[in-house]
Amino acid sequence: MKVIALEQVHFSYQRKDILKDINLGFERGGVVSLLGPNGSGKTTLLKIMLGLLQPKSGLVSFDGRPIKSIPRPVFARQIAYVPQVHREAFAYTVEEVVLMGRAPYHSFFSAYSSKDHDIAADSLARLDILHLKDRPYTEISGGERQLVLIARSLAQGASVFIMDEPVNGLDYGNQMRLLDGIRRLAAEGLTFIMTTHFPDHALMTADRVILFKDGTVINDGSPAQTITQESIFELYRINVNVVSMSCGSRVCMPIWATGTTGASTLAP
Ligand code: ADP
Repeated sequence: MKVIALEQVHFSYQRKDILKDINLGFERGGVVSLLGPNGSGKTTLLKIMLGLLQPKSGLVSFDGRPIKSIPRPVFARQIAYVPQVHREAFAYTVEEVVLMGRAPYHSFFSAYSSKDHDIAADSLARLDILHLKDRPYTEISGGERQLVLIARSLAQGASVFIMDEPVNGLDYGNQMRLLDGIRRLAAEGLTFIMTTHFPDHALMTADRVILFKDGTVINDGSPAQTITQESIFELYRINVNVVSMSCGSRVCMPIWATGTTGASTLAP
């Protein structure tokens, strides 16, 4: 059974059609990257999967049940939206931020139990950041904060993680550490569905890539099938070579061909 399924989903803002006849199913486990130009409807699709927007028509289901029929607290424990890095107003420790993921399991006034602390520690350990446990959340790096937010969702018991451009604003090292953390959790059977602006990140991390343009899916398959010179040109109007490295990985290299006039042939 698909963990998330969208059948004939249409969505529009006012009169403008944003998503047109979307049919997608997501298996449990692995990384799915959504790739497409700005304004193509990726964020809208994520919001529909999270139940934050209602489609104009069509059905969205989670584990075979229409999401509208699942009580909100039950749904919210299973599927986590991991926001882009932000600063908390108060200097909670990293452990306190992760413990917030346990809040749905408690009445307002009950204290966190030793089980909650164990789950928080385990979530941090799974992302290799247990050493940050007692640090103020405001004093760790952006990449570490993003990992802490994933740990909070793990502590909440989520099995599906929805992320909108998770590496936004992170330096190269933090981008790679974050993608590595995501890959490792996906290998344990968790599901990550995320948008990215970087075809290379999809090549590095994704098991499946969905190419999006003008509110429709134009390609859906493995990174090797979907990320090609032709598809990148169709999405972004940029010429690239998709190069196979000796290590087996593939990368996109823009074709810079600056002539004597200084004109570039990157654009058509
Ligand atoms: P992407 O994530 O691919 O950049 P979005 O899903 O954010 O695309 O946006 C898709 C389209 O919907 C864009 O044309 C955008 O301008 C429009 N849009 C997004 N949010 C709103 C809104 N709240 N009201 C009206 N139009 C919106």
